[in-house]
Amino acid sequence: MSIHEVINPATEEVIDSVEHLDVRGTDEAIERAARAYETWKNVAPAERARIMRDFASALGDAQEELARLEVSNAGHVIGNARWEAGNVRDVVGYYSAAPERLLGDQIPVEGGLNVTFHEPLGVVGVIVPWNFPLPIAGWAIGPALAAGNTVVLKPAELTPLTAMRIGSIAREAGVPEGVLQILPGKGSVVGDRFVTHPAVRKVVFTGSTAVGRRIMAGCASQSKRVTLEMGGKNSNVVFADADVRAAAEAAPGGAFDNAGQDCCARSRILVQESVFDEFMEHLETAVKNFRVGDPNDEDSAMGPLISAGHRDSVLRYIDQGDVAFTGEAPSGPGYWVRPTVLLARSATEPCFSEEIFGPVVSVLRFRDEGEAVELANNTEYGLSGSIWTRDLGRALRVSRGIESGNLSVNSHSSVRYSTPFGGFKQSGLGRELGPHAVEAFTEVKNVFFANNQSTHPESRRQS
Ligand code: NAD
Repeated sequence: MSIHEVINPATEEVIDSVEHLDVRGTDEAIERAARAYETWKNVAPAERARIMRDFASALGDAQEELARLEVSNAGHVIGNARWEAGNVRDVVGYYSAAPERLLGDQIPVEGGLNVTFHEPLGVVGVIVPWNFPLPIAGWAIGPALAAGNTVVLKPAELTPLTAMRIGSIAREAGVPEGVLQILPGKGSVVGDRFVTHPAVRKVVFTGSTAVGRRIMAGCASQSKRVTLEMGGKNSNVVFADADVRAAAEAAPGGAFDNAGQDCCARSRILVQESVFDEFMEHLETAVKNFRVGDPNDEDSAMGPLISAGHRDSVLRYIDQGDVAFTGEAPSGPGYWVRPTVLLARSATEPCFSEEIFGPVVSVLRFRDEGEAVELANNTEYGLSGSIWTRDLGRALRVSRGIESGNLSVNSHSSVRYSTPFGGFKQSGLGRELGPHAVEAFTEVKNVFFANNQSTHPESRRQS
């Protein structure tokens, strides 16, 4: 065990300290989860559903408490933090319907009855990043528990507080001991143990592509199931036939929400050359009006970055870039960065190709539809993106042409708990959320029940 201080990124003050588990503590928790699984998997579907509804209701009662905790631990603005806490409640509530609807198939075959069952996997290890601690925890907890698995969850080192509170809320709401455990600690210790411990039967990882690849390689030695949600460098494509002003006014929200620390951030904007100047004029006004400040202030649209180290890495991109204009940010304590718009000259520039994960957006012009799709696909990532056009045919062609898991036309919406979410290419493997997510936490079992009428011609004649 070691003690880790938790810091408020808006004030740089220490707000709490958390004990980090070592390998032994992690193993003990995994073994508790494996014991709890033997009971939880046999809880009747209606009873498991009721426990999950109670859990969702308790999360709803704690929405404001969880939101305030996230404001001080992650620097999220209060409006966003309320949405995030409400999202965990809604996800657990949505999947509380699943235990009683985990339907199998009955397949016509000769000589009996053939049916499929969705069996739970066992212990599921969930590894969460610091950028959206609440929703990302919920996206795995909800379907994993609904399917009858038990969960060990490791929050990011910088943001453990809301996940730990979710764990205590679960116990208060009646989720049995050992079914959901929150294990704060280092990725290289607790997270790595999820990969190497044979009792953990699936790892759900959300974080950087570099760490995700390593986790996938580690899981391979046990053929361990894995879902990966990794990085993104998402395009916002604005065609000349679009409502250019609306596209420009929406662009800062698409890029700077959560201070740009968002795998779905539309951090590169492609603008058709004939409307480039018009778009940039409206964008400058919108960026200057984008309010950065105290995350407790109801009017703030953006708070600080998560840490001093991360701020410095973002500032390096700005220092090397061609700055078109910036917004404002507070000075003084806190890890603040001004919303910044960079001009890109080619798709291969670092600012246009690398995930900066801060309030920095790069703009590049394109000639025609073909070039727009080519530039949007010129990246190892494929998580999200937006298309602005009034032409329905073009919206259809371009949305089918861009290699990305989640696209929106004439908006920047991307994540709804009732629709699937995940990435193409180096952005991920598998899908979370939506009606089918529970199946990713099960194995399909096929059973044939003989009707005891032998198919041998001799016995057929006798019967
Ligand atoms: P990170 O990869 O550094 O860490 C993510 C988690 O992995 C943390 O809990 C960390 O402790 C753990 N970890 C680190 N090394 C590990 C190891 N060797 N074994 C096991 N676990 C280990 O990522 P981050 O900086 O916390 O988060 C930012 C990244 O997450 C960005 O790349 C972002 O795009 C990505 N992200 C993706 C999605 C998505 O849905 N695709 C959502 C949010 C964030």
